[in-house]
Amino acid sequence: MLKSFQFRVYPTKQQHRQLNMLLETARRLYNNALAERRDAYQNDGKTLNYYDQANKLKAKRKEDPYLAQLNFSACQDVLRRLDKAFKAFFRRVKAGEKPGYPRFKGKGRYDSITFPSYGDGCKVKDNRLYLQNVGLLKVKWHRQIEGKIKTVTIRRKVDKWFVSFSCEVEPTPLAPCSEAVGIDLGVKHLVITSDGEFYKHPKFLRDAERKLKRKQRAVSRKKKGSNRRRKAVRDLARLYQHIANQRKDYAHKVSRKLVNRYGLIAFENLNVQGMVKNHRLAKSIVDAAWNQLVQFTMYKAEEAGRRVVLVDPKNTSQLCSNCGEIVPKKLSERVHRCEHCRYVQDRDVNAAQNILKRALA
Ligand SMILES: [Zn+2]
Repeated sequence: MLKSFQFRVYPTKQQHRQLNMLLETARRLYNNALAERRDAYQNDGKTLNYYDQANKLKAKRKEDPYLAQLNFSACQDVLRRLDKAFKAFFRRVKAGEKPGYPRFKGKGRYDSITFPSYGDGCKVKDNRLYLQNVGLLKVKWHRQIEGKIKTVTIRRKVDKWFVSFSCEVEPTPLAPCSEAVGIDLGVKHLVITSDGEFYKHPKFLRDAERKLKRKQRAVSRKKKGSNRRRKAVRDLARLYQHIANQRKDYAHKVSRKLVNRYGLIAFENLNVQGMVKNHRLAKSIVDAAWNQLVQFTMYKAEEAGRRVVLVDPKNTSQLCSNCGEIVPKKLSERVHRCEHCRYVQDRDVNAAQNILKRALA
C-alpha cells in the first residue's frame, strides 16, 4: 500500500525563485495543453488524448528553454493531470451531471510539481533533497521515511514549501479484534460512538467560521490592487492553511484511536455530492472534517487489517436502535425516547447504534 510522508523544505532565495519559475512553467504547460484540446475540438471536432500531447513534448522542450528546465517526467505528469481532469469531465457528462469544463489555472493557482519516478530528477542526497535544476534543498526531516519511495511532489502552500514522498510500504496488521463500533458524525461533536463516547471538534475548528469571516471582511475593505489588500489576502490564505492543518492533525489522532481499539468501524455513507453544494462556511468546514476522518480511518484500517463499513444513512436518527420502530423527532430534540419499548438514549448515540446494527446485519 502507498503511504505518504510530508516534510517542510527551506529553499534559499535563489532556489525559491527557481521553484516558483518551475511552477509557472508547469502552469503554462497545463494551460497551453488545455487550450490545445479545446481548439482541436472546436476547430476540427477532434478529441486529443494524453498520448497525442505527450508525443509533442520533446519537440516543445527543444523550442522552449523554460520548459526544458522542468524534468521530462514531471512535464508528463502535468499532462496526466489535465488528462485526469478531462476524464472526470467526460464521466460527469455521461452520468448526466452538471459537467463543468476543465478550467485554466490562474496565476499562482498551480502549486505543485510531481516527479513520478524516484531517482529521475529527484533524489535524497547528503540529507538534502535534490531536484533537477533547483539543486540541493534543505529539509526538516521530522520523521523517518518508511518503505520504498515511488514519487516525489514539491508543493507551495501560501509562502511555504513542502515535499511529500509517496512510498510503497508493507501493511503492518494489528492483532485481531472482535470489538465493533458505529460512528455518528456530528456538528457539535465530530464523533459520537455507539458505546456512548463523544469527541468534540477542537476549539480552533469551532471558532474557524468567526475568524475566517473577520479576515474576509478585512480583505473586502481594502482597495483592489493595493499592498494592504495583498497582505490581507495572504493573511486569509494563511488562516485557511492553519485550519486545514489543525483539522488534519485531529483527524489523524481520532482515526488512530478508533483503528487501534476496534476491529470493525461503521460510518454512514456520506453524500459527497450533496455536501460540496452546501456553501455555508461552517457547514463546509464540518463536511471537510467528516470526509477527512472517514478517509484517514479507512486507510489506517487497511494498513492494520481492520474493517471499515459504510452504511446507508437513511433514518439512522429516527429509528429506535432497541426495537427498530420509527420514532420521529425534530433536529432540536436531543434525546431519543421510544414510546414502543421505552428505550431512552442520547439522540446521536442512538443513531450510532443504528449505524453499527446496519453494518453487522
Ligand atoms: Zn424502541
